[in-house]
Amino acid sequence: MDIQIGDVLTMKKPHPCGSKDWQVLRIGADFKLRCCGCGHEVMGPRAKFEKNVRQVKRQSAASPAAASPDRPEEKG
Ligand SMILES: [Zn+2]
Repeated sequence: MDIQIGDVLTMKKPHPCGSKDWQVLRIGADFKLRCCGCGHEVMGPRAKFEKNVRQVKRQSAASPAAASPDRPEEKG
């Protein structure tokens, strides 16, 4: 599954706050996600989240002409 930092993951199960959308803050052995509804942050193994992902929404669907030097896959 192609997931990058900044993507918004729509989960199959909603958070208790009612939102199903989570923004990806960090990728690695563990994912760090923030609930778009209440701002709650969670960390956990990638496989655990991927099982619940229904859709990946990419916000950076900008035109290629406006290429930015930012690299989404930053290690550290
Ligand atoms: Zn929430």
